[in-house]
Amino acid sequence: MIFDPTTDKPQDECGVFGLYSTTPNDLAWLTYLGLFALQHRGQEAAGMCVSDGDKFHVDKDLGLVTQVFDERRLDGLRLPNARVSIGHVRYSTTGSNLRFNAQPLTTRTNKGILGLAHNGNFVNAREVRSGMLMEGALFQTTNDSEVMLNLIARESHMDLVEATASAMKELKGGYACVLMSRTQLLGFRDPHGVRPLVIGQRDSANGEGGAWVLASEPCALYAVGARLIRDVQPGELVWFDRDGLHSLMVEPKRPTPCSFEWIYFARSDGELDGVDIHESRLRMGAQLAREKPIEADIVVPVPDSGIGAAIGYARESGIPFDYGLYKNPYAGRTFIAPTQEARELKVKMKLSPTSAVRGRRVVLVDDSIVRGTTSRQIVNLLREAGATEVHFRVSSPPITHPCFYGIDTAARKELVASTHSVEEIRELIGADTLAFISERGLREAIGGSGLCGACFTGEYPAGTPLLNDVDKLALEV
Ligand code: AMP
Ligand code: SF4
Repeated sequence: MIFDPTTDKPQDECGVFGLYSTTPNDLAWLTYLGLFALQHRGQEAAGMCVSDGDKFHVDKDLGLVTQVFDERRLDGLRLPNARVSIGHVRYSTTGSNLRFNAQPLTTRTNKGILGLAHNGNFVNAREVRSGMLMEGALFQTTNDSEVMLNLIARESHMDLVEATASAMKELKGGYACVLMSRTQLLGFRDPHGVRPLVIGQRDSANGEGGAWVLASEPCALYAVGARLIRDVQPGELVWFDRDGLHSLMVEPKRPTPCSFEWIYFARSDGELDGVDIHESRLRMGAQLAREKPIEADIVVPVPDSGIGAAIGYARESGIPFDYGLYKNPYAGRTFIAPTQEARELKVKMKLSPTSAVRGRRVVLVDDSIVRGTTSRQIVNLLREAGATEVHFRVSSPPITHPCFYGIDTAARKELVASTHSVEEIRELIGADTLAFISERGLREAIGGSGLCGACFTGEYPAGTPLLNDVDKLALEV
């Protein structure tokens, strides 16, 4: 976990991937493919470890998967008879994109060399870390993974599975991790299942190429030719070895997976915890149309994040869906730009209106309003292009609280809905009308048994960091 000194919250939005090969294989290439499919979960750093039971190779750096792993570096990771690999893509904002915080993190322990990659945050990592420092433990990074690895190493009398289960019991928060030794692959999800993790299997052809796969999302399974077997359950630890898949329910609690995975974060070509991402977005849009109808000529999505909800809104309302905003496919996500000015310029680099909006009353659909910057600019773009009315519809409720479980929605003071009413936000972004889906409507649209919605409600199912921890961090940097 890394605290950005300029904000009041930890930031660790990531994608994880792991392979356990049932027959020796070139896993560096497969891991590369898996990470490439997870690129949307993190664009600032990428890394992987590969082992053949003897050698243990690690490489990681700042940059996109294709930038970090050029042919030369991939070659350096190639082991013809590899058995186990893990990989990681990391998303962070300014201040925390330090190279030493790239993952996987590796360390030598009494259980041999271990590699760990995690997505999410341990909310009590600092307390656990302070306790361990008092006992004489050494830390090289400010990274959560290192706390986890130290906890595992500390249990010298336990085997790797037992020690990992014990560490899971100590660390609180929302997390999903992959862990490897030279011969084993492990995966585990926090007790509430806030962060996702899925299991896949790759069939062997002529006795070759078979593998178990772990990934943050199913798209990474499909990318390596595997099929989805199931989600890792909240509080479950799974591991793979020569005998196949093993499971231990360590600490399952009431499941509350992150609703933002369905709203925005996860790729639309998959499902998590049995709920199809694209279909849930269609339902959010339809719900929004029922809750917040308006007379208009066309429904326009903010690409790509608003597409699913806009289709749902258009179908339900009967207002035609149209291609009102062109998205430059070479532009990255605007959120990563470090300053407000950079973010504003990046919106123009990324989006420009088409003639579809000229002389039309537009329903503009996006998945969320965070700081309000993008929204204001897009409304402006549409007006400049001749839209006569712009009605903004949002397929998530107002975001009023920061996330402590790994989604970078911004610090509380930057969240426009934490300091402004809906009417004030409408005025700020310059829309004719503005409406958000209700929290209940969102829950119904996603379905499932329970959801985390703490960024809308302030009720954190998996705990929060101690406030004085946040202060101490700000002092430390
Ligand atoms: P804003 O200008 O801050 O209101 O940005 C809102 C836009 O950011 C929406 O189009 C969202 O799709 C996108 N967004 C929402 N949450 C995130 C996130 N955690 N990371 C990156 N982009 C996001
Ligand atoms: Fe997801 Fe919001 Fe909960 Fe964070 S606080 S895990 S973004 S629902």
